[in-house]
Amino acid sequence: MNVLVLVDHADGAVRPTALELLTLARDLTSASGGVVVHAVWVGESPQTELLAAHGAATLHQVHVDGADAQLTASVVDALQTVITAVEPSLLLVASTFEGKEVAARLAVRAGAGVVTGAASVAVEDGRWVARKSVLAGSWDTACAATGRLAVVALAPNVVPAAPLAVPADTTLVEHTVAASAAARAVTVVSRTKRPTGDRPALAEAEVVVVGGRGVDGDFSGVEELADVLGAAVGATRVATDEGWIGHEAQVGQTGVTISPRLYIGLGVSGAVHHRGGMDAAGTVVAVNNDPDAPIFEFADYGIVGDLGEVVPALVAELRARRP
Ligand SMILES: Cc1cc2nc3c(=O)[nH]c(=O)nc-3n(C[C@H](O)[C@H](O)[C@H](O)COP(=O)(O)OP(=O)(O)OC[C@H]3O[C@@H](n4cnc5c(N)ncnc54)[C@H](O)[C@@H]3O)c2cc1C
Repeated sequence: MNVLVLVDHADGAVRPTALELLTLARDLTSASGGVVVHAVWVGESPQTELLAAHGAATLHQVHVDGADAQLTASVVDALQTVITAVEPSLLLVASTFEGKEVAARLAVRAGAGVVTGAASVAVEDGRWVARKSVLAGSWDTACAATGRLAVVALAPNVVPAAPLAVPADTTLVEHTVAASAAARAVTVVSRTKRPTGDRPALAEAEVVVVGGRGVDGDFSGVEELADVLGAAVGATRVATDEGWIGHEAQVGQTGVTISPRLYIGLGVSGAVHHRGGMDAAGTVVAVNNDPDAPIFEFADYGIVGDLGEVVPALVAELRARRP
């Protein structure tokens, strides 16, 4: 069986989610036997050594002729060419905004089954089964694609990326693809990177500190705690609607979906619309002055207290424990 991994990269650097996907694909190989991991790099200058270190047996570099290689339509053109050549039974992409768009477009074109926001994927009874929780964490589902190709968008951070002790002996295969009409229909005039400072991207961060109405307009404590933990800063819709922080920080059903290893909610009630965007988080910590706040029903650790006292104490303790 061949497994394809789409390598997401930005500014020439592999994104951490791609290494997580390769690690998972590699482990699927040992669990099911006979699986070959193919990585797909769309564009120029692939980071071959890094991908070999994470288990890519074959690296397909695809040049897209006639369109911007970063467009999702171009990525789909590239993937379709590699799929025709390799005939994989599983395609793994990261469950980011771009990854989900690629998964959906590709699945429509290739007649494949698609699961987004998956927490795991494994072979069960000879077919790929992806698992995910839905409806704000109230149901765990298992989804199997009935067609020949399963497209699974895996949530960031559900598999820790780990290099191999001995890198794979990667074979590089180059392809050139003529861009489809969909890709050629778009001309990219300019790109402006949103400044995120030194903090990690919210959708992919391993640790996220979220501020809610309880911060009462002051995100300095949220940011301080985030920085001491190397975390991203998120917010509830109340906080973004109030203009305390930009809408790009909103976590939830109508915001960004996150799956960090650690989520810390400060003055967040845990409403269902917020929970819908963070219920794949590993460990949930909540600080709230209301012992009956709904977030305590699903938090792993809860602190009943005022943010003004608890957050500075947390920051001081974490700083004291830093080497
Ligand atoms: C269609 C729809 C879509 C939505 N989409 C989203 C979404 O994507 N994301 C989202 O977040 N929301 C979304 N919402 C809104 C959502 O329903 C909630 O209203 C919102 O999440 C609540 O935000 P909050 O927890 O900050 O505020 P609240 O629910 O008001 O909770 C604030 C909490 O802070 C605590 N608190 C107050 N002061 C302190 C203090 N000094 N110290 C400690 N704790 C304190 C309070 O006890 C309370 O529990 C959506 C709503 C709708 C209708």
